[in-house]
Amino acid sequence: MDHDDPKTTMGYYRVSFERKRQAVKTLSLMVIDRHGSSAPCSSRAYEQRSVAVPFGGCTEPSNVKAGGQSCPIRFQCSGCGFYRPDPSYLPAIEDHANSLRADRERAMAMDAAGFVIDNLTAQITSYEDVATKMRKRMAALPEDERSELEDAAAVLRRVRAGGDHKLLPLTEVSKTGK
Ligand code: SF4
Repeated sequence: MDHDDPKTTMGYYRVSFERKRQAVKTLSLMVIDRHGSSAPCSSRAYEQRSVAVPFGGCTEPSNVKAGGQSCPIRFQCSGCGFYRPDPSYLPAIEDHANSLRADRERAMAMDAAGFVIDNLTAQITSYEDVATKMRKRMAALPEDERSELEDAAAVLRRVRAGGDHKLLPLTEVSKTGK
């Protein structure tokens, strides 16, 4: 960004921060659990008591402490009681269900044991269930609210895609560790 006046540059950052803050506020009300039941939380809880893992928020304390790098059950999130997805994760959830379907095809072609196929099938079904329930909730919203939600989801996806850490957007980590 090439502005002579530093205040102009700061203005852009402030808008960006505000958009993220507003996006967190909007999405925190649309969090669900692995059963698809509503599990809204405060913006503060969304940021500080959960960590963004590939297919949703995770509230498992040791994994949150490890910045999402220490899942005890290998990221089988849709089968986990600590899973807290929201609509900003919908594309990732649907991509993952597709990827699991491809894995299941490969496993079948390899004559894999039944428990391998069953595990993949159960994961596919539960991710599909989460995505379907999320889409239904979104469809039931008035158009203006749905549009606001989709904008907020896009903001958080951009933040996660461009971030150099997996924590949610407003968590600032001091370089000095203080
Ligand atoms: S499986 Fe559970 S503990 Fe692991 S990342 Fe997913 S939500 Fe967190």
